Amino acid sequence: MVKTNKIHYYVDLDGVLANHDAQSVTYQVKMSNTKDNDSGTKYDIRDYKNGFFRTMPLMPDAHLFQDYLKGIDNDRVHILSAVPKRRTSASSVFDEKREWVQEHFPFIRSINIHIVFREHKALFATLHPHSILIDDNKSNINEWRHAGGIGILHTDAVSSIKKSMAIHSALWDVI
Ligand SMILES: [Mg+2]
Repeated sequence: MVKTNKIHYYVDLDGVLANHDAQSVTYQVKMSNTKDNDSGTKYDIRDYKNGFFRTMPLMPDAHLFQDYLKGIDNDRVHILSAVPKRRTSASSVFDEKREWVQEHFPFIRSINIHIVFREHKALFATLHPHSILIDDNKSNINEWRHAGGIGILHTDAVSSIKKSMAIHSALWDVI
């Protein structure tokens, strides 16, 4: 039998694939940090208007993820993105994010696009035996690891992809 990669890959949207930061400047909704922020966020948002998530630009290095993820069996490539609980007048953040993924990452299966509340991300860590989360939010990574998953704290696409490939190589002979 041909040996195959068994790892599942979960990739965050905002700050990893989608340029949420640039969009918040465009929409003029960026506010300095407050103690009420969701844990792990770098800044606060006054309000999310209709279209904010649907029209986010790609991160400058997102094309590297497009190439990398396309090379992995699409059963095991997931988007795991959170919706804001407050300060949103957008009618459907869920639909906007889903449509964004379908436009920019059309090879990702609809069933593998998971749009959830932030604190529920860690529930996905052990749905499969070996799951990597690539996320720029430290709390998400800590919670993912605590739940039994493998976390890569994202800073840029080159580093995250290199780490992901290193994990794949390291696990190749043991899973
Ligand atoms: Mg993020």
